[in-house]
Amino acid sequence: MRPRQPDPAPLARLSALATLPVFFRLTDKCVVLVGGTEGAAWKAELLAATGAQVHVFAASLSDKMRETLRDLPTLMWIARAWEPADLHGAALAIGDVESDHEATRFCAAARVAGVPVNVIDRPAFCDFQFGSIVERSPVVIGISTDGAAPVFGQEIRARIESILPQGLRSWAQAAKGWRASVQSRNLPFRGRRAFWERFTALAFAKADQSPQNSDLVDLLRVSDEQSSDAPKGSVVLVGAGPGDPDLLTVKAVRALQSADVVLYDDLVSPQTVNAARREATRIAVGKRGYKPSCTQDDITALLVSLARDGKRVVRLKGGDPMVFGRAGEEIEGVTAAGFPVEVIPGVTAASGAAASLGLSLTERKVARRLQFITAHAHDGRLPDDLSYAALTDPRATTVVYMGVKTLPLLVARLLAEGLDPATPAVVVERATWPDERRIAGMIAQLPERIAQARPTGPCLVLIGAALAGPPLPSPGEPT
Ligand code: SAH
Repeated sequence: MRPRQPDPAPLARLSALATLPVFFRLTDKCVVLVGGTEGAAWKAELLAATGAQVHVFAASLSDKMRETLRDLPTLMWIARAWEPADLHGAALAIGDVESDHEATRFCAAARVAGVPVNVIDRPAFCDFQFGSIVERSPVVIGISTDGAAPVFGQEIRARIESILPQGLRSWAQAAKGWRASVQSRNLPFRGRRAFWERFTALAFAKADQSPQNSDLVDLLRVSDEQSSDAPKGSVVLVGAGPGDPDLLTVKAVRALQSADVVLYDDLVSPQTVNAARREATRIAVGKRGYKPSCTQDDITALLVSLARDGKRVVRLKGGDPMVFGRAGEEIEGVTAAGFPVEVIPGVTAASGAAASLGLSLTERKVARRLQFITAHAHDGRLPDDLSYAALTDPRATTVVYMGVKTLPLLVARLLAEGLDPATPAVVVERATWPDERRIAGMIAQLPERIAQARPTGPCLVLIGAALAGPPLPSPGEPT
């Protein structure tokens, strides 16, 4: 079989966007607000906060609007109905108008004047919508569910509020002020990025304190010390977990977000690869069971040559990199070439399968030993040096990786060596993926069941009394 060549994937394209979030700077711009209602008053307050010159056209005012106009002197009340000419030159037009006729007239006038328009609570008449806001100005986060459900949006907002410390405001402010000092250092791109990464880590670590000038001095000193070093590539082996992208660790996401290049296996789900920085180059280097594969030597050589180009390389490996992942060869190759290697662990397929089955692999009453084996030697056959004493231990839970093809042989051998043919076993295909499938039975029946089910995805075989319990429903199954 001809080995596969590493396969650079095109840049991931964005999926459809319901709306485009944009951030308008309105300082000193004229905004037309039509209506004296309470709804209009809330918008008046929001718009005034942006520094816009808000012209409120209303023949009469609600109490709320009266109060808002009194408290916010930058709002200007024009005590009459609006006219189309009022919209000329405005940055935005917002109206709280009652009838469809009035809304249509308002929209039409705004279109003629070339002004984006919003009729409050009337999406059909809106060019743009107001999202919910999380405000740590200058950091401003807008949330839109495109009208899906306000409660949903509110919950999202509450969650973001709870994870963003208030103090980030002053750090973001400091970042604006410090930009010039960083720029004047003339650091290369990598050096600037490193500065802002250290800045960000500090901001989150000291979010409850105000940034001090001494913080800037310290950060710049580290930059100066490091800028004398040539840019150096690095390699991070990252565990991608068994499939569900939510099983990536926080550290893995961080590594993916700062990667220049991502080399990933076929076992890694596309959604998981998509956690990488958009600009990162993605290269498929699948090693696929019995199908054409990139050779391990090619992959290691590619890691080294990318590191030599000064790239931050993420090697994204299914499950945990240190479990049947040939991590040792990659670590050795990269280290021998003089580049730093880091390993970020992942959820191994056995943990993913156990979680989704809802069965403890070390069930106290029946299991004393948990063992992970591979049933696939370098030549694709059943390894001839497996320990059958360990595998036939009635108090063991055995998880077999890469075990489907050689399953009939393995089972025949296990039974011949004395394993109880009634031992519970289950094959989990594509554990934690939405289309996960299980094939369960007594170990003696399993080869035949597998022959019928013909799994095509990655499979684990789990064997032992711990697998006797009733499993939880699969991810895709209705509960
Ligand atoms: N490093 C990986 C294992 C790589 S070996 C880990 O820690 O999980 C490849 C084998 O892992 C596959 O042949 C299969 O036996 C198993 N495997 C990986 N992902 C799986 C999944 N989602 N479901 C079932 N088995 C999986």
